Amino acid sequence: MGMSTGYYLAERGVRTLLIDAFDPPHHEGSHHGEPRLIRHAYSGDPVYTEMAVCAHLLWNEVEDLSKTKLLVQSGVLNMVDSSLYSLKNRVALAKEQGVHPEWLDAAEIRRRWPELHIPDSFEAMYEPAAGYLYSEKCVEAYRKLALAEGAELLTYAKVRKIKAHEGSVTVYTKDGEYHAGAAILSAGAWFSALSPFVNLPIRAVRKVVGWFETSSPTFDTGRFPGFTLNTREGGYYGFPSIGGAGLKIGRHDTGTDWFPGEPLSPFGSCAEDEADLRQVLEAYMPGAAGKLKRGAVCKYEISPDEDFIIDRHPEHPHVLVAGGFSGHGFKFSSVVGKLLSELVVDGQTRYPIQPFSLARFDQQVQPESSFALGEIE
Ligand SMILES: Cc1cc2nc3c(=O)[nH]c(=O)nc-3n(C[C@H](O)[C@H](O)[C@H](O)COP(=O)(O)OP(=O)(O)OC[C@H]3O[C@@H](n4cnc5c(N)ncnc54)[C@H](O)[C@@H]3O)c2cc1C
Repeated sequence: MGMSTGYYLAERGVRTLLIDAFDPPHHEGSHHGEPRLIRHAYSGDPVYTEMAVCAHLLWNEVEDLSKTKLLVQSGVLNMVDSSLYSLKNRVALAKEQGVHPEWLDAAEIRRRWPELHIPDSFEAMYEPAAGYLYSEKCVEAYRKLALAEGAELLTYAKVRKIKAHEGSVTVYTKDGEYHAGAAILSAGAWFSALSPFVNLPIRAVRKVVGWFETSSPTFDTGRFPGFTLNTREGGYYGFPSIGGAGLKIGRHDTGTDWFPGEPLSPFGSCAEDEADLRQVLEAYMPGAAGKLKRGAVCKYEISPDEDFIIDRHPEHPHVLVAGGFSGHGFKFSSVVGKLLSELVVDGQTRYPIQPFSLARFDQQVQPESSFALGEIE
């Protein structure tokens, strides 16, 4: 989010300083272990589908500008046990918004992808125009474009404190203090470390992903799509094997709390890291349940309703916050950067971001753990 915002601000002629605690792209946040799904037909507020379509176009623009392949249109197959919910309404809604996914029954899923062992009770929504993003290359591309437009970047410069007064902001790192007319905070899983200056209702969670050996080239990119798989046991997502890396799979629901400053236990530090992923592969795509080739850990930053938080600071309107991307934000980072730059430069954005306001939590009793089995976005 930070790198794309930096590019769109610098491109508009704003003197821009990017400050990061590490050296993006890096392995400490939420963007590593590429790829990331990009889908368009969202449930929930229609703003998501509108923004996903814009985000896709912006990624194509960034590919042209950076001369780098960032997005692969592999198609994405969203499968669900229909005793949980049906995807028919979502397909209909998407069509009203100009996105054209297909609804498939279990027999049609198995006919198109015989390597999927999907029970008759399942159904799917297939999005041929969707795919995946090389997330680390995306961050790298925006970083280069931002610097080429004149933005400056401080790496290994953790922000320790922020102070805001009318029309000015001061940010403190161990090496100095920096003054600006406006600031945008997009601290991912570390937002709680920016308290008391800003208090967002965000829970950071440890997530694991694994890459598994496949038994046949039918799981390779070009033949197998990206996927989400919502079963009664849990919600999973994954990717075809890219360049022999193995089929990548992760679990969307569940995860253990992580707090800034704590070490993040590596993949395999508990047996369930691999076992949980393996059991779903064995049940639904046994040909992809081979040897574990690689495992990784990453962080989600989850808001109470799993919707994004993009708003002005409640007391300092020249400070913007963008967080709580809840495990489905990467695809939007192009358009989020664009809209944040509009909020700074134009004072408003063309995107209807009201559903992302902080005020929605004012009246809400926050559930202890809202991270239940919902639709995977
Ligand atoms: C395993 C996994 C799978 C995912 N799959 C998908 C997917 O398929 N599709 C999708 O759309 N999304 C997906 N996501 C979500 C997506 O990756 C995140 O929503 C997105 O990366 C969030 O971006 P961000 O900029 O908010 O956070 P980050 O990318 O973590 O960036 C935050 C930055 O802030 C910096 N920072 C934090 N605190 C400070 C400080 N005090 N001072 C200076 N710098 C600081 C950090 O160093 C970091 O670089 C997934 C996430 C994970 C973990």
